[in-house]
Amino acid sequence: MSHCEDVLDHLYEYIHSNDFPSDGGTEIKKHLQNCRSCFSRYEFEQRLLERLRNAGCCQCPDSLKKKIQFLIKQF
Ligand SMILES: [Zn+2]
Repeated sequence: MSHCEDVLDHLYEYIHSNDFPSDGGTEIKKHLQNCRSCFSRYEFEQRLLERLRNAGCCQCPDSLKKKIQFLIKQF
């Protein structure tokens, strides 16, 4: 199983990228099913993304993306 740090490193890509390598994606998925703390981060970021999408912000500027990544790391 992956370590939390590895999963969190790739969590952002996992959620935001449609063509995430399937092997890595599966590893992350498995980890999320077994790890409460990573799963809650995952949920947190997904909700954030949903809110951005609802706000009609499909093409967020890079600065905003960086801000979000920063927020997630603080969480
Ligand atoms: Zn974990």
